[in-house]
Amino acid sequence: MNIEERRADKISIIVPCYNEEACIEIVYAETAAAMEAFTEKEQVSYEIIFVDDGSRDGTLKALRELAAAHTREAAQVRYLSFSRNFGKEAAMLAGLREATGDYLVLMDADLQHPPALLKNMYHAVKYEGYDCCAGLREDRTGENPIRTFLSRSFYHLIGNACHLDMGDGKGDFRMMNRAMTDSILELKEYNRYMKGIFSFVGFDTKWIPFHNT
Ligand code: UDP
Ligand code: MG
Repeated sequence: MNIEERRADKISIIVPCYNEEACIEIVYAETAAAMEAFTEKEQVSYEIIFVDDGSRDGTLKALRELAAAHTREAAQVRYLSFSRNFGKEAAMLAGLREATGDYLVLMDADLQHPPALLKNMYHAVKYEGYDCCAGLREDRTGENPIRTFLSRSFYHLIGNACHLDMGDGKGDFRMMNRAMTDSILELKEYNRYMKGIFSFVGFDTKWIPFHNT
């Protein structure tokens, strides 16, 4: 690696993908644009790790092409691929294990998690003393009201039962530092529920509100 290319921090962005062929190109473009807006100036490098969770459409082909086209050390695209569908939890875990960054992002492939938030998330974990900065979905516009009611009731019930803070709107979309990530990776759970684990491991989280798209 060229010495000039070495940057102070590295951010790893993990994107689980199940049958997302229609989204891959656009989520890459939006994410790269959001990252290029601050990473060069702030001497940050990044990698985007897509995890193909056994998709049956053209997702894997799209990921191969994307990874081949973006090999630059400071802005790399990589992918993992499962032999079958294991579920989003397993895909996120595999991505976290594979990632080499100082800061780690979990983000959906369908742009429901706006990449434009990544810059503020980085500033929160880098300069404001937080271990984690997460998105707080403020409304459920466009969602079936019955689903909204059921989701709210579910999180209320399960939060009370487990004494964990897994409030409605608190999802997986977040940037974590290495310390928090390593404590998640050290847990021996086989069947994981990441939203519970984030709360269980403690650590200081800043919430940034965003709207459903
Ligand atoms: N996903 C996955 N494996 C699955 C189901 C979903 O990796 O078995 C991914 C999916 O491609 C997306 C994210 O997990 O990037 C969230 O999935 P989805 O949008 O279906 O969930 P929701 O928006 O309802 O939370
Ligand atoms: Mg979605």
